[in-house]
Amino acid sequence: MDSPVLRKLNVNAQINESNTISELADFMIQRHNSVVITGAGISSGSGIPTYRDDSGTWTSNRPIQHAEFMRTHSVRQRYWARSFSGWPTIEKAEPNLAHVELASLEALNFVGQLVTQNVDRLHQRANHKRVIDLHGRLDQVLCMDCGALIARSDIQDWLKQHNPHLHESSNLTRPDGDADVDDGLVKAVQVPSCRRCSGVLKPNVVFYGSSVEKDIVESIYQKILRSDSLFVVGSSLMVYSSYRFCKFAAENNIPIVCINQGLTRADDLLTLKVSKPCAESLQALSAML
Ligand SMILES: [Zn+2]
Repeated sequence: MDSPVLRKLNVNAQINESNTISELADFMIQRHNSVVITGAGISSGSGIPTYRDDSGTWTSNRPIQHAEFMRTHSVRQRYWARSFSGWPTIEKAEPNLAHVELASLEALNFVGQLVTQNVDRLHQRANHKRVIDLHGRLDQVLCMDCGALIARSDIQDWLKQHNPHLHESSNLTRPDGDADVDDGLVKAVQVPSCRRCSGVLKPNVVFYGSSVEKDIVESIYQKILRSDSLFVVGSSLMVYSSYRFCKFAAENNIPIVCINQGLTRADDLLTLKVSKPCAESLQALSAML
């Protein structure tokens, strides 16, 4: 049974102010199969910046577009130059308390499948077992012609060898490993290609303008249908690829709860929302369960 507070919120279906952690704990204590969706807000504590500020506004340059990357050599030069600079920050990042607390909620059976928009693999490194990388993973590079998968660290070595003018940097501004690099340096960049077939190499992530495979989306819908709630952590849900799961849950009368500091696209669909940082909120939640 939901608490009176939750019944009231369900009726209003509007979040005007932040709920408390104890209200969230009241909700979670009755759930044992919650699907979790996480976003950049959960990795910010690991030194990986978020795309957007609390109002959902872009905080840096326009992201790489899939079609432009595939079509234009100079776009690939820019991507690999910036990625070369930013990759070490991603590679060295460690899971933070938010990843660890979510993994412990999984171990205690409060949450089931986790779906992350992050490409940094930090949930897996925190020992979270059931993780779907909705937007792919940055530690792999994919040949767009023959499908070969190559370790990103091998590509970093290749880039280093063939582009001595580039430097690794700690100046990371975006969660996809894209860092700022001088335009002059970008023009001289040697771009890696597939050793097997000379095809175009792309990080194994879903760029803007591309889409998540249908099978993956469908499997997540099925998991949501079998769940007792949707739990959003650290995402503004501004991209449709994650927002659609909230829409789907709402259409199927599955309650949605959220920890996110700032606006989300699904605010009017939420049963309950805690507007506080992820790590401290999850730690407080765990302590109450
Ligand atoms: Zn190939």
